[in-house]
Amino acid sequence: MNVQPDLEFIRSLKEAGGDTLKKCYQCATCSVTCPLSKDGSPFPRKEMIWSQWGLKEKLLADPDVFLCHQCGDCTTNCPRGAKPGDVLGAIRAYAYTFYGWPAPLAKLASSAKGLPMLIGIPVVVIFIMWMISGAMHIPTSEQFADHGYQQFFGHWGFKWYAKNIFFIVLIMVPSLGLGLFSAYKGITKMWKTMAENEGVSTEYRPSAVQFVKEFLWPSLIEIVNHDRFKECTDNRDRVRGHQPLMLAFIGLFIVTCWSLLKNDVIGLIWPSWHGPMLLMDPFKILANVSAVALLFGIAVLWSNRKKAEKEQDTKATFYDWFLIWEITAVGVTGLGAELLRWAGAPTLGYIVYFLHLVSIMMLFLYLPYTKLAHLIYRTTAYSFEKYRESAFAKK
Ligand code: SF4
Ligand code: SF4
Repeated sequence: MNVQPDLEFIRSLKEAGGDTLKKCYQCATCSVTCPLSKDGSPFPRKEMIWSQWGLKEKLLADPDVFLCHQCGDCTTNCPRGAKPGDVLGAIRAYAYTFYGWPAPLAKLASSAKGLPMLIGIPVVVIFIMWMISGAMHIPTSEQFADHGYQQFFGHWGFKWYAKNIFFIVLIMVPSLGLGLFSAYKGITKMWKTMAENEGVSTEYRPSAVQFVKEFLWPSLIEIVNHDRFKECTDNRDRVRGHQPLMLAFIGLFIVTCWSLLKNDVIGLIWPSWHGPMLLMDPFKILANVSAVALLFGIAVLWSNRKKAEKEQDTKATFYDWFLIWEITAVGVTGLGAELLRWAGAPTLGYIVYFLHLVSIMMLFLYLPYTKLAHLIYRTTAYSFEKYRESAFAKK
């Protein structure tokens, strides 16, 4: 076998937290101790040697890289301190940039050097929208008590479509649209790469309904239940933070969909449906419970990360901390804006609300390039794992 190492790839892995990969001497303790490794396709020992050899193509086409849940059990037990959990995390970080589209944006989101631009883009876009809306003012306490943030972008005479909703849709829909389109391009490229690498037949394909029913849906159920996460031993604690965080995202997604339906569809027919939700509205309750779950989940992940950095000497990476900071910003500014509304503080409230919009836009726009991308790529890997064992792949 003629091995042609990609030195640039090895350097990227080292920079992203995989600087210990050369210490591995292939004892296989990690594959034995990994609770998620399967007999037919054990990991992460093989990924360690491929990383040492710089076999980028093999690693990017390897679903096992994405099936790892970064529990760190292997890192705890590695006799050489090679930290395979961190190496796999670094490979995933590289994959999100590799599969990301458009490439310049994916590259920008891959390191701390891009941070000023990553924050600057949404700040400028939202500030320009605020200027274009003509609403550039801080409301009086009375206006703030009556409307909250419903007139952040001002208001106009059309009862059937609030100006604020128009501007928020104008900012967030293209941001989410770009994030989802990029995610679609990334996962189709990844699926093709994995299928070619494993020689999976593409001649006989399931219908979309069959695919969802047999591969995607069971994968989603497993992910939401955290079935594999719960198999981790030494670092089982991560489930306590990860699961509430995931449920919080699902809750906030439901509330956002309802808000869009209420204001943008039903509100066009019955203008009285426009406006903020009441405190006891079930969707408002779901939003608040989700916000608390989000803050709880991120606090647990934050403390676990700090503990891992201290006890396992895990390297602090931009890739890990950017997502933690981003989610914290969404939760703190969201809850802060609401508390400031109750407290009747319009100036501070408007500033915090502005930052809340910035953090949400960042979450949507950079979804396929940050660590949050594991949501889509891991789901794809789960589905591929089931697919390659199915009759479709073998026909
Ligand atoms: S990473 Fe550690 S445990 Fe795994 S094969 Fe290498 S030396 Fe052994
Ligand atoms: S970090 Fe956990 S899931 Fe990933 S390879 Fe190591 S033991 Fe397995």
